[in-house]
Amino acid sequence: MATTLMRNTAPREHPGRYYGYLAAVAVCSIVAAIVTAAHAGAPDIGWLKVPFALWLTAGLALVAELRPARWGGLRMSPIAMISLAYVYAIMVTWGFLPALIVQCAAMTVLFVQLGSSVWRSAFNLSQMGIALCAAWWTWTAASGGPWTASPPQILGLLAAGMVWSVVSTAHVAMAMKMRAGGSWAEHFRAWFKSEWTLRLTLTAVAPLLAIAATTSWWLVAVSAIPVFSVYRILQTAAEREREAERDPLTGLLDRKGFQQAVERKLVDAGETDTAVAVMILDLDRFADVNSALGHDIGDKLLVELAERFLADKPPGKAIARLGGDEFAFVWAELDGMTDPLECAREIRARLDKAIVLDDVSIEIDGSVGVAVFPEDGRDYQTLFRHADIAMDESKKRVATYARYAPEFDHHSPERLILLGDLRRALDHPDAPGVNLYYQPQVCLTTGEVLGAEALLRYHHPERGMVNPAEIIATAEHSSVMRMLTERVVDIALRQLRHWNDAGYRMRMAVNVSVRDLQSPDFTDYLTERIDAYGVEASRLQLEITESALMADPRRVVDNVQRLSDLGLGISLDDFGTGFSSMQHLRGLPVTEIKIDRTFVTSLNDRADNAAIVSTTIDLGRALDVCVVAEGVEDENVRKQLEGWGCHAAQGWHFAKPMSADDFDRWLVHHRASR
Ligand code: C2E
Ligand code: MG
Ligand code: MG
Repeated sequence: MATTLMRNTAPREHPGRYYGYLAAVAVCSIVAAIVTAAHAGAPDIGWLKVPFALWLTAGLALVAELRPARWGGLRMSPIAMISLAYVYAIMVTWGFLPALIVQCAAMTVLFVQLGSSVWRSAFNLSQMGIALCAAWWTWTAASGGPWTASPPQILGLLAAGMVWSVVSTAHVAMAMKMRAGGSWAEHFRAWFKSEWTLRLTLTAVAPLLAIAATTSWWLVAVSAIPVFSVYRILQTAAEREREAERDPLTGLLDRKGFQQAVERKLVDAGETDTAVAVMILDLDRFADVNSALGHDIGDKLLVELAERFLADKPPGKAIARLGGDEFAFVWAELDGMTDPLECAREIRARLDKAIVLDDVSIEIDGSVGVAVFPEDGRDYQTLFRHADIAMDESKKRVATYARYAPEFDHHSPERLILLGDLRRALDHPDAPGVNLYYQPQVCLTTGEVLGAEALLRYHHPERGMVNPAEIIATAEHSSVMRMLTERVVDIALRQLRHWNDAGYRMRMAVNVSVRDLQSPDFTDYLTERIDAYGVEASRLQLEITESALMADPRRVVDNVQRLSDLGLGISLDDFGTGFSSMQHLRGLPVTEIKIDRTFVTSLNDRADNAAIVSTTIDLGRALDVCVVAEGVEDENVRKQLEGWGCHAAQGWHFAKPMSADDFDRWLVHHRASR
């Protein structure tokens, strides 16, 4: 379905009420036309004895709508409806019925040009019919007889034209209110404000046309010239407005043009409950191209890229250059977009081939950020900001594209509030809120509990339990992360000590973040705490995610090596979800791989996941590292993993994460039942 035809559909809510309104307008128009025609009587001039000048006027009204002038830029892109000037002229010289017929004929031509549906055309013909009736009554009240072009009659004609506009706008505003919601008055004001000057101009031309029509046909022909000028001025203004929204270098839309294109799509998507993807592409190292090869080459590269984007099946319905080396794309479900990430891939694919300029081959690279209406934002500003954040995130991860996720957004007001509250909860060692839950890790061959993973739980005074992933994403970019990890390590080691004292020889796995691993004094802190609690360093397992390792590989690797030298176990968490895993396995003192739960949970339903899991287990065996499967939710998966020779597993099948007391009770029960 093309976007331009959107208004041809009924609104989602109360379609019956909407169609009822349209039908009522149609009935009213017929009644009004009959009453008015009866009152107006037969035209002053016999049907066939009409002077050629009047036929010419009618003909020009139809011609005027053959190429409708729209003045673009405005959100509602109103149509000029030049023929109205002729319709008013016919009304005052020939009578109501001929004017109605010419109006209907001219508007039918217009609606065919615009591709309006039959019922929508019928509605507009009806409401304009009512408007013409109102105009005729106004004119009759003021004219006091046949057309003589007297000053009161000219004023009467001007008033009739404005009445036409008011009545028509009132009907359109009502239909819009039913389609898009909002108040009738608001729609009326917006529509009338954008239309009234043009309507007044066309009405002011009408008396001249009327004088021409009653004088001679050649005067009618000549008077078509100023009417055509109005048409041309409108067209030129529209073109200028469109040009003003273009980037002069590439001819793509500019920032303002892009905003308008997106906003138009959001209105249609909101009405139809469909999605719109906003994407931002930022080139990598474009400044290097400029400084090494000169700005001319830089400009040529941008122009060449713009051409690539516009070439067959462009990856967006509107494409913009936002300035510098940043491009933006918008693609709506109504335009045929099915998968937003597919668009991002398509954009990226167009960077794959090097650009050759002046015999220099330039490799280009870039990252795409995607935000999708309505999930990632409901208005342009939010979507744009979120696409930008996603683009930044994809750069950080050295990925080609990323879709927005709230955890990328480190500066949203909710995040800042959460950060403040978290800091307060961590400021004082006894302040409540931050705690750990423990989830057992079970040996698959013996069923013995090897240890537990400590998982952060934060009970916010108002929000209740906050998702740990959100807390980490919020804290990771601030000094709060360090406070948080220290608290987690402290509680975990105290718990480990408690288990040791109770005679359980278990290990404790603690998750650490990128930020922790970047600072060398984290190692000192850990050493000091391990000593303070008197536990063996080898009983502590640090879980590190691949993305953490990627953030600043060299610095992180040094610190990980120091921790490993202390005797701590190093576990590669969420294995398989990151990238360059093999490289890390070779270059790091990893003692354990944790297969991510997204592969494990569904391994019996998906052959690809089964292949990934079994190969990872083989890999672990070959490299002589322990393999732990995370996310085991049922016995079938457990059995399968055991069959493949996986060492240990963790998941709801054994137990969900529990408080320390519950864990103790679970442990007693588990031992007794074996
Ligand atoms: P993770 O380290 O991969 O932790 C495992 C997550 O999987 C936990 O989610 C756990 O509750 C969940 N899980 C365990 N078994 C199953 C299962 O059978 N099915 C399903 N669907 N889920 C299962 P949780 O507790 O929400 O933690 C999410 C992530 O937050 C963790 O992923 C970890 O990356 C991070 N995190 C948690 N605590 C800490 C912490 O103290 N420090 C740091 N830096 N990160 C933490
Ligand atoms: Mg973990
Ligand atoms: Mg994990």
